[in-house]
Amino acid sequence: MTLLLLIVLLVVAWWLLGRDHRSPADRDYEADERNRMPAELADGKLVLSEQYRRTDVPRKLGARFDQVFLTPDGRLVPVDTKRRRRTRVTPYDQIEVSVQGAVLRHGRPGPLSRYEVASYGYLRIVRESLPTVYLRFPLLGDCELEALVDRYQGIQSGEVEPRAARSPAMCRKCAYRADCSADVARLR
Ligand code: SF4
Repeated sequence: MTLLLLIVLLVVAWWLLGRDHRSPADRDYEADERNRMPAELADGKLVLSEQYRRTDVPRKLGARFDQVFLTPDGRLVPVDTKRRRRTRVTPYDQIEVSVQGAVLRHGRPGPLSRYEVASYGYLRIVRESLPTVYLRFPLLGDCELEALVDRYQGIQSGEVEPRAARSPAMCRKCAYRADCSADVARLR
């Protein structure tokens, strides 16, 4: 009798664990999202999600990862999600995801250290009432990030003169606007 009860419990547990508990709407959403993904992400594996990590190389940097995928050929690719209508990669996007690339190269968790880090990343742009798009772009390397950090610190300390930004939009979001004589948005 005890054996019979055990078998029944095991069958129930197997049935419950093996079932797909997602609702039809969730399943449709996931299938739709997968169809829009680049093949290497759709066929890859999600290995990091919503995690903050740091590195001291090439400079002290920290990054919050939205998602990192392991492609079928063994590369780690950062994917950053933005909710907006505009479907282009800005210099700010490139720097943000490049920092994620540097943190992956120098500060990825042990089990991921045997994989190569891709020299590119993706921006996943979620648009209201429009299909999600994935944009691939090259990541900045360590030397380029080093130069950016040094320049940023130089501007903060007053040793480096800021250059005028390439567009007024950059100035409108800038934290140093109040003290900057090169503010393009104000000068135009
Ligand atoms: S306000 Fe000055 S420092 Fe900020 S982005 Fe514009 S030009 Fe650069």
